Amino acid sequence: MGSQEVIDWQGKNVTVAGLGVSGIPAAKVLHGLGAVVTVVNDGDDERSRAQAAELEALGVTVRLGDGATLPEGTELIVTAPGWKPDKPLFAAAAEAGVPVWGDVELAWRLRGPDAAPWLAVTGTNGKTTTVQMLASILEAAGLRTAAVGNIGVSLLDAVLGEETYDVLAVELSSYQLHWAPSLRAHSAAVLNLAPDHLDWHGSMEAYAADKGRIYEGNRVACVYNVADKATEDLVREADVEEGCRAVGFTLGTPGPSQLGVVEGILVDRAFVENRHKNAQELAEVSDVNPPAPHNIANALAAAALARAFGVPAQAVRDGLRAFRPDAHRIAHVADVDQVAYIDDSKATNTHAAEASLAAYESIVWIAGGLAKGATFDELVAKSAKRLRGVVLIGADRALIGEALARHAPEVPVVDLDRTDTGAMLAAVREAARLAGPGDTVLLAPACASMDMFANYNKRGDAFAEAVRELGAASA
Ligand code: ADP
Repeated sequence: MGSQEVIDWQGKNVTVAGLGVSGIPAAKVLHGLGAVVTVVNDGDDERSRAQAAELEALGVTVRLGDGATLPEGTELIVTAPGWKPDKPLFAAAAEAGVPVWGDVELAWRLRGPDAAPWLAVTGTNGKTTTVQMLASILEAAGLRTAAVGNIGVSLLDAVLGEETYDVLAVELSSYQLHWAPSLRAHSAAVLNLAPDHLDWHGSMEAYAADKGRIYEGNRVACVYNVADKATEDLVREADVEEGCRAVGFTLGTPGPSQLGVVEGILVDRAFVENRHKNAQELAEVSDVNPPAPHNIANALAAAALARAFGVPAQAVRDGLRAFRPDAHRIAHVADVDQVAYIDDSKATNTHAAEASLAAYESIVWIAGGLAKGATFDELVAKSAKRLRGVVLIGADRALIGEALARHAPEVPVVDLDRTDTGAMLAAVREAARLAGPGDTVLLAPACASMDMFANYNKRGDAFAEAVRELGAASA
């Protein structure tokens, strides 16, 4: 896996920026390695005081309420990935010539000499699903693996824990990539690129550049989305190992060096002998759960990474068949009066909702919540012909309502004018009224949930509960 610089941690002054899911384990690990650790944190609330007390008992210094000042003598900063690059702490670090690593960089640097290679996935949407599909495929091939990153096992645990792995399926966010300068994956995929988190990155260019870092130093394959030219551009700009290939995935017929779909079959024209003439059948579209177009794209990306690692075709099929999506991702809740009720509460941005809406023909759409600065014209214009009706909930519903008035004036819209938690039951009832046999009622809000619910899980649960009540009433 290339030469690895051995770091002498004994007595090294490390500042950990941010108490939290990544900061606390990082501080513990670094302290355990012999580093002199100081944690700095902006907040100074009850929770952080309790966390600080736990770390201080181990011998870690914690400074609450001051995340801006660089502690004297700092040789390295390990930051929580969410910390914005324009924070004063990082300006001070740059001035003092102190390197800054994120949680992924730390895990990458702490890997042992025989560490498992990483197959890495990023993108605006579909990361978790793709990484889980990939892990399922690798498992079906008999490999010791785990889906790690924002899901399942933490990266530090995967790298330092007792388990040994043959290969890791790693989900990486744009923030994590920003702070991971030396990461070198075996192979990597960027699934898609749509505007998201631009307030953090500063611009679309900066966001794309951070995503593109995932391809740096790839050894076998850079996997891109043929339908999303921006992902291919990132491959072209990346500095990769000699012999590393660009491999595209497409929902259409694949060209040489691509994976794609031919008459309901997922086929590989990249990892086959004589790819100009040959193709390898991998699986059927119906092996993908659920077989919605965007999810078939996810499956192809996962298959491409697995094939880059040398996995046989049969394992791709078996792994895809064994895969079960996480909750609230196009989950079929129930059929009531010949109407299907689908929970895609995880569609928290317009790009995700667009994919979701493209998967059904005649839809009553439940949408709304916190828009996070998004605009809805493109989403509504593209989806208008599939909409049988719309029910709007949540704080920013007027933005969607206005886009509907502009691009789909004939579609009936019920504006619930509610942001209380109980509104979901009313929304489902209204949707049921608008839907006819064969239609799909789709919760794909295109917005965050926090105006009405603790998180998207709770929003999806409320939807499922409301559908059950509806079913009980109609039975
Ligand atoms: P992430 O980890 O990137 O947030 P998930 O796999 O959890 O992605 O999926 C989040 C949501 O994004 C899903 O509920 C679905 O609506 C949508 N989605 C999944 N895959 C794609 C894709 N390839 N393109 C567009 N939207 C997608």
